[in-house]
Amino acid sequence: MTLTGQKALVTGGNRGIGLATVRALAEAGAEVHFTARSAANIAEAQRALGDTKATGHHADMTDRPAMTTLMDQGFDILVNNAAMIGPIGRMLDVSVEDWAQNINTNLTSAFHAIQLALPAMLAKGAGIIINISSGAAHRAQEGWSAYCAGKAGLAMLTKSTHMEYGTQGIRIYGFAPGIVDTDMQGTIRASGINPVSKIPRAELAPATDPAQAITWLCTEAAQDLAGQELDIRQPELRARAGLRPLP
Ligand code: NDP
Repeated sequence: MTLTGQKALVTGGNRGIGLATVRALAEAGAEVHFTARSAANIAEAQRALGDTKATGHHADMTDRPAMTTLMDQGFDILVNNAAMIGPIGRMLDVSVEDWAQNINTNLTSAFHAIQLALPAMLAKGAGIIINISSGAAHRAQEGWSAYCAGKAGLAMLTKSTHMEYGTQGIRIYGFAPGIVDTDMQGTIRASGINPVSKIPRAELAPATDPAQAITWLCTEAAQDLAGQELDIRQPELRARAGLRPLP
């Protein structure tokens, strides 16, 4: 896989799937940038990356002016990865403020990033956007009304973007990464609220799996899948991205 000459931005690239994606894209030859919400988080990510070169930017996804400054650089690849799981709780048990913060982070911020990324991509006649989706976009889970609604909205944002800009060189994908061993799954396990929270940690996939698939989606080989909601558990996708078959 080679992405030499491509400039990529991964949101929430300081840990979890985002960090693994930063590493995979850089190893494929892309010039990689990532956002994190503090200087300390950037420094920690840089330590974890070791010799792998990537540039961290201090930006909260929900901060449109900060995102505008960053996106003015122009990117060939945008991975909308940053997201939050909470508030976890049945609808009568969550606050409207927490609910709105989830939608703002997981859905509206992705819209900001896409809207800010598109002009440079359209000027070049090429651009790749990957919205990190979830099984929860398509199947409700108890206690996750904000997360499910936000990810379902994101799936529709993927399709809307494809419909409006797919013929102008923009390749957009929704990509569900599977159940992955990250801090987010730790929070989910601690809640015990639904079947996902009962999945033993030993059964979770490493973040390197979705990172590999995301990197593959950025290559020409994935062109025919543009506009789709994809899931890492799809056997054909796994084979094409070079991942081992699931047991
Ligand atoms: P983590 O919780 O491990 O990491 C989330 C990342 O998003 C962190 O870098 C976090 O930054 C960042 N983030 C959250 N809110 C904001 C914000 N407002 N501005 C900027 N960055 C923000 O999550 P995962 O790595 O597990 O998840 C990555 C993506 O994959 C998410 O979109 C998630 O919904 C999706 N996903 C994950 C699954 C899993 O099993 N892990 C399953 C299905 C989908 P900070 O460190 O500052 O908090």
